Amino acid sequence: MSITPVIFPELIRALIATIDANADAVTELDQAIGDGDHVFNLQRGLQALQLHADEIAALDWPAAWQKIGMTVMSAVGGASGSLYATLFIALAKHARDNGEDMRGFSNALLQAVEAVKQRGKADVGEKTMLDVLVPTALALQRETAANSALPETLARVCQVAAEGAEATRNMVATKGRASFLGERSKGHVDAGAKTAQLMIAAIAEVLIQAAG
Ligand code: ADP
Ligand code: MG
Repeated sequence: MSITPVIFPELIRALIATIDANADAVTELDQAIGDGDHVFNLQRGLQALQLHADEIAALDWPAAWQKIGMTVMSAVGGASGSLYATLFIALAKHARDNGEDMRGFSNALLQAVEAVKQRGKADVGEKTMLDVLVPTALALQRETAANSALPETLARVCQVAAEGAEATRNMVATKGRASFLGERSKGHVDAGAKTAQLMIAAIAEVLIQAAG
């Protein structure tokens, strides 16, 4: 990838800003069908990453992903902490074999999302962050394989992420705490899917600015 980890501190600032700006709305979703701590968990993780942001910015991507994963792992409790840690540690592993360009990244990301599925024993349609991560990773790979320009690629990725989050509204949760509610989990967007979508949109915005 021509984008290097030098951009990392800026990405973290953008992620913190979007989670803070949407904290109340997401917590409302999480209180409806979860235990209400999802925003707090993410904020802890993001603050830990911000503390290490300059150090991470000096690494190459595989080493950066590994450091990000280990930082999230030690800072965040909850399902989302271990699942995001799994994502980044798998990304570190697969980034080494796939090369540093966008195509390599999109392949590594798909494999990393696969690792999250295995870690949580979950798949799309179960009303989780996977309903955003899976279609987003697939869209990125499709656009990259088609040699789409970066703005079109990111616009498509953001659209797919938004659709994925919205699609969780009418799903019945079968994984995580929301699954305890069964049919009553219907009617609310999943908090983890929503924050994944918000973070993807924030990353896309930073990348567009950086490329322009
Ligand atoms: P916890 O569920 O431990 O309180 P969080 O509140 O931080 O952790 O995260 C909850 C989010 O994690 C859910 O909204 C959902 O998107 C995601 N999640 C929960 N279980 C799984 C799973 N098995 N696979 C994928 N995502 C999951
Ligand atoms: Mg929770």
